Amino acid sequence: MAITVLELFKVLPRTNCGECGVSTCLAFATQVIKEGEDLAKCPYLSGEALRLAEQVKGQQEQGVGRRRESLAIALEALQEKVAPLDFAALAPGLGALAGESGGRPFLEIPYFGHRLTVFKDQVRYPPEAAADPWDAILLYNYIASQGAGEPGGTWIAYKTLPNSVSKAKTMARLEGKLADHFAGRAEELRQRSLALGGGPAQVGEGAQVQMVFQPLPKLPVLLLFWEAEPEEGFQAQAHLLLDNRVLDFLDLESILFLVERLLGHLMEENEERPENG
Ligand code: SF4
Repeated sequence: MAITVLELFKVLPRTNCGECGVSTCLAFATQVIKEGEDLAKCPYLSGEALRLAEQVKGQQEQGVGRRRESLAIALEALQEKVAPLDFAALAPGLGALAGESGGRPFLEIPYFGHRLTVFKDQVRYPPEAAADPWDAILLYNYIASQGAGEPGGTWIAYKTLPNSVSKAKTMARLEGKLADHFAGRAEELRQRSLALGGGPAQVGEGAQVQMVFQPLPKLPVLLLFWEAEPEEGFQAQAHLLLDNRVLDFLDLESILFLVERLLGHLMEENEERPENG
């Protein structure tokens, strides 16, 4: 039987010390079971938790295998979907450049400051960017949208998008993770945002960090961060807002992945600054 979040939580020290990088043992248990986080990041494992460690690892490995398989299937389906599209005609609408190599059309798409070359059956990454099938899925989804229309210019929360109820929790968890990570370090978040190509904005009332990112040409993301105020009993908070036309360019799942990628870049220690694209 698979170990559940609650079962793991029960055998953790439950002191919420935060040394594993998240603020509560429950959040940590969720990350281990749902996202494959390394259980050993809790330095206080003992007794039953240590006994479960091997089983958790096995469960995580099985999950990775299953995810890889379904990603490969999804990727293939998307490549079939974009195969009949005219890349050259679509390029302007997608904010991309069109080209051809050996008779194979491609689109060069700015993505988190890198320029990725997307053929109909392959994505080529620059040497400094690591390949990930999720990036490819997201890019093919973006191309499949055909870039019709323009961003609407109004910021909205993910949870207000149609049919987002089941996934909105993931977005809230990502926002919580970002807030926990940068609590007490607003200036560091500002500097990292600037290094990642973020532009200062003035939108959220009282937010100490307000940055607009452009991870894909038609997909702006607004980050708002409020610092903790312990004397007032407020924890640090982060919100990630999207353009109201975002679903014209990406599906719900890809949007979450895009936000996760953004967080990964912001929270990565020793992250190098990508070239501006
Ligand atoms: S390090 Fe361990 S005890 Fe501390 S919050 Fe994380 S899981 Fe809980």
